[in-house]
Amino acid sequence: MKAPNNQAKAELWFVPGSQHLYGDEVLRQVARNAETIVAGLSRECGLSVRLVCKPVMTGAEAIAELCRAANAGEQCIGLVCWMHTFSPAKMWIAGLSGLRKPLAHLHTQLEREIPWSSIDMDYMNLHQSAHGDREFGHICARLGIGRKVIVGHWRDARVQRELDDWARAALAWSDMQTGRIARFGDNMRDVAVTEGDKVAAQARFGFSVNGYGMGDLVACIETASQQQVDALIATYEADYEVAPSLRKGGARRGALLDAARIELGLRSFLESGGFTGFTDTFENLNGLAQLPGIAVQRLMADGYGFGAEGDWKTAALVRAMKIMGAGRAGGVSFMEDYTYHLEPGREMVLGAHMLEVCPTLASHKPTIEIHPLAIGGKADPVRLRFEAAPGPAVNAALVDLGDRFRLLANEVELIAPPKPLEKLPVGAALWRPQPDFPTAAGAWILAGGPHHTCLSLASSTAQLEDFAEIAGVELITIDAGTRLRDIRAALRMSRAASSLSERRR
Ligand code: MN
Repeated sequence: MKAPNNQAKAELWFVPGSQHLYGDEVLRQVARNAETIVAGLSRECGLSVRLVCKPVMTGAEAIAELCRAANAGEQCIGLVCWMHTFSPAKMWIAGLSGLRKPLAHLHTQLEREIPWSSIDMDYMNLHQSAHGDREFGHICARLGIGRKVIVGHWRDARVQRELDDWARAALAWSDMQTGRIARFGDNMRDVAVTEGDKVAAQARFGFSVNGYGMGDLVACIETASQQQVDALIATYEADYEVAPSLRKGGARRGALLDAARIELGLRSFLESGGFTGFTDTFENLNGLAQLPGIAVQRLMADGYGFGAEGDWKTAALVRAMKIMGAGRAGGVSFMEDYTYHLEPGREMVLGAHMLEVCPTLASHKPTIEIHPLAIGGKADPVRLRFEAAPGPAVNAALVDLGDRFRLLANEVELIAPPKPLEKLPVGAALWRPQPDFPTAAGAWILAGGPHHTCLSLASSTAQLEDFAEIAGVELITIDAGTRLRDIRAALRMSRAASSLSERRR
């Protein structure tokens, strides 16, 4: 997996809050308790990002200084605040007002249980987050600060899961600030939903999107040595089943060598430019022998974002969801709603693309195959073919509505095809959308959702909620509880709110 920019150094700062009123001994105890929680979370939580305990905050100056340091610190990707005791929140105003890093408010308590027989006022005065955190929440609400609120004992598995989900969203956000998407060719001609305002996207999300000439990519492809090609072919033969015609001595072996050269060139272009994602389009393949298939699939498996037909928004989203799901079970891929099974009550969506489906979805060892492609006018492309593993997943998209961006998520259940798809020449996934097909597809279409998505079994709706909050964009979720009338109301509300807010930059 192409590691997130900044991951090696990334830190979350754990910030306990209190005040001077309690005296030094209590404040020392608060600091020790904060250390205990940080050590415990680091040990038990499997956090994707290192958690660093900061000094107990007791005054406005120190809080403002901490927030300035968080903003300036390249390594700090977010703050986790916890008010162990009461911490009068007027002293948090200056710091929080200027904070530009993601904020999580962990509403917890050192001890899980009330010590019934020994509890006295000293205990009560030390364990005050029940009202201290309400004071903190009030000032965040009043200042309009987007944040995650996590509630429960810090050793509870659900709490730890929520914290790790949020940490992963913060890491994806951090990566996105320096994200770079390379575009080979422009948008597929006349398509609306894959277009968008790249300047507005950079102002909102941080990632940059720039076009490169196919000649520059072709030059990279041509520099691939025979030795490199041979080594990559050996990797292909070790990792996948190879169709007979592509094996050594097979009639189409040359196409496999071409595909390997394309992968080597594309990879070297992306690595040398520090890119985190890319797009291509079958309408601009000048100098390429075939539309990149296996190359795109394997680069996606290594953590690069990808969008076909010039779809840079989906490329950026695939990259973010790769980071949010890294190390968790299940694949993450660029996807397209392709064909329906419309048997009433048993509707299914068959998702695939011309070639570019990520093999991390595969339920079995993929096969390398070669088949004609009806469009593009190039030689037959080599691709990995497989069927996706079953399981719960989320299908998400990023939409440009002209005056704002919208994230859209639909929870789906991936299922095994009822019969083998023997003639289907591409990687494919079959799913049932939540809550049911008419509601899911109706809501998606009402919300202006695209046909391109990121399908992920490894990242969740909860992470997308966290990510949307951090990014300051709206999220429309279609899940088991969705009713169309609620979606229509949410969309009307969103449109009204947007008309009142400042125009985007
Ligand atoms: Mn497409």
